[in-house]
Amino acid sequence: MSIQTPQPVRGTQDIFGAEAEAFAFVVETFERVRKLYRFRRAEMPVFEKTTVFSRSLGETTDVVSKEMYSFEDRGGESLTLRPEFTAGLARAFLTDGWQQHAPLKIATHGPLFRYERPQKGRYRQFHQLDAEIIGAGEPQADVELLVMADQLLHELGIADGVTLHLNTLGDAPSREAWRLALIDYFRAHREGLSEDSQERLDKNPLRILDSKDPRDKAFVADAPQIDAFLSGEAQDFFGKVTAGLDAAGVAWTRAPALVRGLDYYRHTAFEFVTDRLGAQGTVLGGGRYDGLIETLGGPHTPAVGWAAGIERLAMLLGERGEVPADVVLAVEDDQLLNLGIRANTALRQAGFSTEMISTGSPRKRFDKAAKIPGKVLVGIAIRDGRSAFNVRSNGGAEDHLPVQAILDKLTA
Ligand code: ATP
Ligand code: MG
Repeated sequence: MSIQTPQPVRGTQDIFGAEAEAFAFVVETFERVRKLYRFRRAEMPVFEKTTVFSRSLGETTDVVSKEMYSFEDRGGESLTLRPEFTAGLARAFLTDGWQQHAPLKIATHGPLFRYERPQKGRYRQFHQLDAEIIGAGEPQADVELLVMADQLLHELGIADGVTLHLNTLGDAPSREAWRLALIDYFRAHREGLSEDSQERLDKNPLRILDSKDPRDKAFVADAPQIDAFLSGEAQDFFGKVTAGLDAAGVAWTRAPALVRGLDYYRHTAFEFVTDRLGAQGTVLGGGRYDGLIETLGGPHTPAVGWAAGIERLAMLLGERGEVPADVVLAVEDDQLLNLGIRANTALRQAGFSTEMISTGSPRKRFDKAAKIPGKVLVGIAIRDGRSAFNVRSNGGAEDHLPVQAILDKLTA
């Protein structure tokens, strides 16, 4: 009887090779940029009590109603694998006393879980970068986050062809007036809408604007726009955000139908979008969520944040070629193995990346080492009865002289 190898879970990925290098580059760049903007780091639990998400995202959102991985643990409590970061960070802000740090600039990254239809750029376990400013009601916070996102995309080298789509949902009165106008408008076209959007019409009409169903898109294009309903205060807020972006040199385009899928958004809503990833073109999205912390039982706490899909950013980077080693060593005589280990260790401690070939037929080791992409090649062999390092550079002297200096100390 043969044993069947279990297959991976649908919608999960084993990330390896060039893709894994691109993934790591995204995370490293994010870590560097978040330090430039002085965002603090947090490591967050992968699961939370289900109510953390159901209350803060709202029962009618797609994420809560269709996409959550919820389960009862052995103690009978309902837990959920995090489908996003914001709710957990907001929970921690309240339960861990992070209020004392407000306004808190905080960043995290890691895996998230949503029961979605798997396809290119859409997985059931995926990964996000996340940045939030909690406890800041001023438009400067929105500007800071957007400029940071823009710099991240530039440092990743993928800003070309990615556009910042920007909208405002206004303050509570503006949003409410707009909501009523949208209800009137969509009611008049109810029959033409998708089933999902007919349901949204009763529960949360704003989210019809977010629909990806082609049947809805024609109606969305002609729907009333927020601008007609913006209060003076909301206009002023949005004006400060756009002026800040202009001052920082961040390009943006107005997207009047852009709403975020979640109920707690106010004022600024945005997405960085590319047409290079087909239907999964949103690489980074976010906005201001002034009402969220209250839905978790906390005091009124304005906040703004964004999340970016690491896989989608990595896909835009494309293949990242193998990074050559600084030094490749070949131990050409088994008697010299320990000298090789000493040399290899000394080079790594000095900050060189190295690889050492010391197995297989000694005569073939140098040729084997020469095939590994590396800047400097070092043969370790016995010449005229003495051990010797034979240093060969594939580039210029600036590559091999520092290596030679370290090796010379070992033989001195
Ligand atoms: P979409 O409209 O693509 O479903 P969303 O509005 O659900 O995105 P958010 O919840 O705002 O997405 O998440 C922010 C980012 O995370 C998205 O812009 C995208 O880059 C990424 N993302 C979201 N869901 C997935 C997924 N299932 N697989 C891979 N990346 C994802
Ligand atoms: Mg989604």
